[in-house]
Amino acid sequence: MSSSGYIYNACVATCDPKVPGAYGRLQNANVVWQDGLIHYVGVEPYTSKGFAGERINAHGRLVTPGFIDCHTHAVYAGDRAQEFERRLRGESYAAIAASGGGIAHTVAATRKASIATLLSLAETRLARLMQSGVTSVEVKSGYGLDYDNEIKILETIQALNGRLPLHVFATCLAAHTLPEGFDGDHDSYIDWVCEGLLPEVKRRNLARAVDVFCESIAFNLDQGRRLFCKARELGFAIKGHVEQLSQSYGTDLICEFNGVSADHLEYLEGSQVQKMKAAGVTAVLLPGAYYFLQESRCPPVALLRQHRVPMAIATDMNPGSSPLFSITSAANMACVQFGLSLDEALLGITRHGAKALGLEQSKGMLKQGMDADVLLWPVDSPANIIYESPSVAPEKIWISGTLYDADVGASRGMS
Ligand SMILES: [Zn+2]
Repeated sequence: MSSSGYIYNACVATCDPKVPGAYGRLQNANVVWQDGLIHYVGVEPYTSKGFAGERINAHGRLVTPGFIDCHTHAVYAGDRAQEFERRLRGESYAAIAASGGGIAHTVAATRKASIATLLSLAETRLARLMQSGVTSVEVKSGYGLDYDNEIKILETIQALNGRLPLHVFATCLAAHTLPEGFDGDHDSYIDWVCEGLLPEVKRRNLARAVDVFCESIAFNLDQGRRLFCKARELGFAIKGHVEQLSQSYGTDLICEFNGVSADHLEYLEGSQVQKMKAAGVTAVLLPGAYYFLQESRCPPVALLRQHRVPMAIATDMNPGSSPLFSITSAANMACVQFGLSLDEALLGITRHGAKALGLEQSKGMLKQGMDADVLLWPVDSPANIIYESPSVAPEKIWISGTLYDADVGASRGMS
């Protein structure tokens, strides 16, 4: 299959900061790629003499970079639809958790599932994401919480790369919650993650990043610091679930370790925003969890904007707090609930999503030398995609320059 192509007569959202105007917009523009990489983006006529790839007249329609979902928990077994019903009937999350529900339910179901089952389930979910324009996705472990099961989930994430055309990036979130059997001893569990798990994950190259849930109901700052020290020593990128339910100061810790992203951030405060700017940490906003948990405190978007901290948006796809399978719906929620502008929302699922994964040199922009992850839309403005989400799907999807039908992924996942 050819990995070269030439789209002409397009409205191009380059998302390149060097192109003036909102989201680096170019009218009547051309996008050319060869051998999987962007070769030319601009309004000058492209001399296509000798060019062997596909040629597409966009008729003025919109072309964007492939979307990036930089925070998901897509590998799990079992769903929590019954818990949703129970919560709607008025049962508390604590009562549901006490009767074996909540995250314990997902951990138990995921531990029982084979790699083949997990692969099939996750493939269906990622295929749905791809239908919303996602071409790169991060997936975390964290429902295994012991050696065999964390490795099993990370192997599943690795195997997803060969099953669907999307680029899949793995993060080790063994420090998600304390599993049964540790009798409240969070320190011993973190010791085990540092000494018993992470070196093997590194040796087998099963993850790029290490994540922690830093919160009073999960792990504290000292435990996070020990985890990050080990992660840094082994060469992992660093990120975290922080400031979600209270001011945990996990963001300060991520800044101290020059992490790639701090995620959630409802309880983030001004001095922490300044630290993020100084340390180059990207803010990842997760409006699906905010919505589903019926939170009332929004992340401080105005402060993040004022200090020019890049804001990424992700689905946080997971069975408990964010059963959300569309990146454009996440962008819609970020606009409606958190007050992002349309330009910020588009950058949140392109350039800034790439930065949250440390991929800003290769993804998230249409610019010479970047990966040719390209979407052609049936509309001429990003407003239509985000405003009418999730009903507007890309017409064509190229990943590393190769054309895929968004429905091909979906039908394969559903089979
Ligand atoms: Zn999460």
